[in-house]
Amino acid sequence: MVSPAPSRRSLVGWLLLSLVGILTGLAAYQGWRTAERELQEQAASRLSLYGSSLRGAIAQYQYLPFLLSEDPSVQALLRSQDFTRAPLQDYVSRKLKRVAGRSGAALLYVLDDEGTTVASSNFDASDSLMGQSFRYRPYFQQASAQGEGRFYAIGTTTGQPGYYLAHSVSRRAEVSGVAVVKISLEALQGDWSTAQENVLVADARGVIALSSRKEWRFRTLRLLSEEDQRSIEQQRQYEGVNLAPLGAVQPAWWSSALLLTVPQDPVEEYMVQEMPLRDLGWTLYYLTPLSPVEQRAGESALAALGVLGLLTALWLFQRERRAKMQSLQESRDQLEQRVDERTRELQATQRELIQAGKLAALGQMSAAVAHELNQPLTAMQNFVASSRLLLQKGRLEVVAENLERLLKLVQSVSAIARQLKVFARKSEQTAVQANLQEVLRYALDLFLERLESPSLTLRTEGWEQPIEVVGDPLQLQQLFVNLISNALDAMDGTPDQELIIRVLQQQEQVQVEFLDNGPGIDPEDLPHLFEPFFTRKLDGQGLGLGLSIAYGIAQAHRGRIRAANRDSGGAVFILVLPLPSPTYA
Ligand code: ADP
Repeated sequence: MVSPAPSRRSLVGWLLLSLVGILTGLAAYQGWRTAERELQEQAASRLSLYGSSLRGAIAQYQYLPFLLSEDPSVQALLRSQDFTRAPLQDYVSRKLKRVAGRSGAALLYVLDDEGTTVASSNFDASDSLMGQSFRYRPYFQQASAQGEGRFYAIGTTTGQPGYYLAHSVSRRAEVSGVAVVKISLEALQGDWSTAQENVLVADARGVIALSSRKEWRFRTLRLLSEEDQRSIEQQRQYEGVNLAPLGAVQPAWWSSALLLTVPQDPVEEYMVQEMPLRDLGWTLYYLTPLSPVEQRAGESALAALGVLGLLTALWLFQRERRAKMQSLQESRDQLEQRVDERTRELQATQRELIQAGKLAALGQMSAAVAHELNQPLTAMQNFVASSRLLLQKGRLEVVAENLERLLKLVQSVSAIARQLKVFARKSEQTAVQANLQEVLRYALDLFLERLESPSLTLRTEGWEQPIEVVGDPLQLQQLFVNLISNALDAMDGTPDQELIIRVLQQQEQVQVEFLDNGPGIDPEDLPHLFEPFFTRKLDGQGLGLGLSIAYGIAQAHRGRIRAANRDSGGAVFILVLPLPSPTYA
């Protein structure tokens, strides 16, 4: 089975999800960087502060070893022979004790050229340095060789850590001994602890010499090499402590920041800023707990997620709405299409029905027509028969009369035939232009005789000019003839007959009105006037087809016809026809 290809939609979803992920990551990174930068700036100023306080703590004793080396009593002590030595040792040691007390130095002492203590400020203490050899200390070797030496170590006699500054005591370019001052940095570290900040000082080998955290002292920031361990032992630098690693200072993979992880319980993580103190051979470290930085990054990510979530929700909402609108539009289109189809079907059915209706009517009519025709035909037969007899008898004037009657009968038969012809055509409107003025004139021409009667007035209004309409001139003429003939019939017994034919041109249609002053129409008859075979004319005078034909013709022309009674008496028939649209012109 072939697994279905991922749809476009799910692909877009994944893309979106990864975009959100990337943006959130970026925001977190940005938050981290901002916090990091702030902390770095803060750390830089703290570092320089701590650095200068440390340098100051040492520098204030810088002059002391030199001063001691210049002291005549120190020089005399180093020059002395065995028999004068003891009182001088005592004298110098007491002097050293006084100077130490005044200066704040932890220890002051003098070594001879062998590295043995010949005078010391703690000469009277239980851990006195008197007689101790410090040959192995680098400060002694440096001062003997170069005049000056410095070193940090834990005192082998006192067990107290301290910074040693040494200066050679020379006589005629020959070193006779070394003057040493030991500075305690314990008070300084106490200050650091009080500030509750994490500060470290590590020596060149990575051993933490000073720290604001007591438990971190003499731990290492990296594993010591064997060579390092050996030389530390030789110099007895950190005697009596376990130089165990604290953790490694390493750069983070995602930024330039240095990190220190202290693997204890709980694990402590720090961002590390360092500053080399080249003159002291040390490096100063300032540690910042990582949690606020992480928190900052998390907050940024969360904020970004929030914004992105909102944007996504908005986008989804918008998309949903668009889809809804689209489907709405689609179903509307479908509906319109169906309405169009049904309308066409209906129109076709209607045409069929009309045609079928006509056929049915034709059957019905045939009976009526046969009945109608029967009478004139029988009369015509009688007239023809009698005329033949009269001709034989030579009574020509009666024959002429008969012929006259025959003509009338033929006319009435042909009138019936004319009416029927309309039904023979399908009522499709033929898009022919007709001139309303002309058609009305032709229709009126058929009634010349009756119109010339002195008791009748014809008034025409609004069709002095040609008026173009869409339609079949013959059919329209038929329609007008029917209306005019009805009006004339209706006014038969009226003394002052008046027929008004009025045309009103409107925006898109034209209205043709036929007004008479006959008896009007019985309100009961109004709804049935246009039905086929509806007639009020007696003695077979009317077939009841005139108005139904008029109605059919109006329909075929997309027009309307209606009848009403005039307020002043009489009837009005109103035909409304559409005017040709400008595109016809
Ligand atoms: P017919 O004229 O053969 O009767 P029509 O359909 O033309 O058939 O007319 C139907 C009936 O409508 C008429 O018999 C008549 O009663 C009525 N009618 C038509 N025109 C008028 C009119 N102008 N005034 C009064 N009645 C009318």
